[in-house]
Amino acid sequence: MFKIRYSLDCELDNGITDIKPPQELNVQVRNLVLKAKKGGVLTKGDIVAEHPSSMLGAHHVASCGKVTAVNYHSLTVKCSGEEDTVEPVDVRSMNAGAELLRTLRGLGVDVSQLSGKAETLVINGLNPEPGVSVAQQILRDGREELHEGLCLARELISPARTFLAVSQGETITLPGAETVGLRARYPYSLDPLVVRAVTGKEFPEHTRVIDVMALYALGRVALTGLPVTDTIMTISGRNYRVPIGTTINHLLNVLNIKVESGDTVVLGGPFRGEAIYSLYDGVKKGDYGLFVTSSKAIPAVQDAACINCGECVLQCPARVQPHLISRCVEYELFDQAEKYGLNSCFECGLCAFNCFARRPLLQYIRFAKTQLRTKAEATQA
Ligand code: SF4
Ligand code: SF4
Repeated sequence: MFKIRYSLDCELDNGITDIKPPQELNVQVRNLVLKAKKGGVLTKGDIVAEHPSSMLGAHHVASCGKVTAVNYHSLTVKCSGEEDTVEPVDVRSMNAGAELLRTLRGLGVDVSQLSGKAETLVINGLNPEPGVSVAQQILRDGREELHEGLCLARELISPARTFLAVSQGETITLPGAETVGLRARYPYSLDPLVVRAVTGKEFPEHTRVIDVMALYALGRVALTGLPVTDTIMTISGRNYRVPIGTTINHLLNVLNIKVESGDTVVLGGPFRGEAIYSLYDGVKKGDYGLFVTSSKAIPAVQDAACINCGECVLQCPARVQPHLISRCVEYELFDQAEKYGLNSCFECGLCAFNCFARRPLLQYIRFAKTQLRTKAEATQA
């Protein structure tokens, strides 16, 4: 087996550049509970949708404007250019507990890693994927927000020990956290592998992990009292603060990036990102990259037959069998897919990236997980 080393280190030469809000936002609301209607007039920071899970944050509009269209996938807002925002909430004066968690969730923060006490807190400061330098940039330029986010997280979790995992050789520190240097190679930036490297255990109990992007967003909410309305993304090697709902088309135009017919545009990173369906899709909360893959350089994934080469099994860091899982999913045998390790997969995307037949292995895996989750929720209801 030939193993390529995917380095996570990037060169940083600029700060974070703001992308101005466009004239129209397209907020993705698929599988969310809508809280805005067509014709509604919104102020920047108003809630437009909530997640059905009690642990995931609400979604807010990034600019003042009027809702001009709503469908299952998205909510379109014609921006007015006004500068008003919703009233800030004084999060820092609140006591740790259920009320604070509810408030943070209402401000767009995902609270699954902040809810309840834990012995160990691991801050994942590695860049999430090759070519994405968001974590490195935030560690360099977002000290105040990180400090504030960490104070709040520690108040809520009360960990006995806090670790900051960074690329080996980095000398970055955060107050109250022990810095641990890790090899900056993909997939060792993924949360389960970072936790294993820091604690020496696989999926240890009483341990929480928060990446620096989420910690930074939490810190900004604490400092400003305002909801999450933007995300930091690496695009063509530089980092931008992008209002949520900004269409891909707008980003491509503003940054003068050309897309040819047949190219694949990916939101997220090159391994775990998702190819977008339309250039009018809006950027989502938590998106950390935008990549254009030329059809001439890398052929698109396709529903080709597996040739049993075994490469995906050799590449898989979770030691599961992606080829067998994908075959089960093709025939909707989701329970069978679980027996081949579906739930141990942490979606690194290495199997799909290395598949000689270009099978959409990661897509099959995500599809199966969604189907099983939906089935479980329907049974509980
Ligand atoms: S995405 Fe593929 S390679 Fe990665 S953990 Fe899951 S099955 Fe293994
Ligand atoms: S890498 Fe692709 S072709 Fe090879 S065994 Fe895995 S799924 Fe089959």
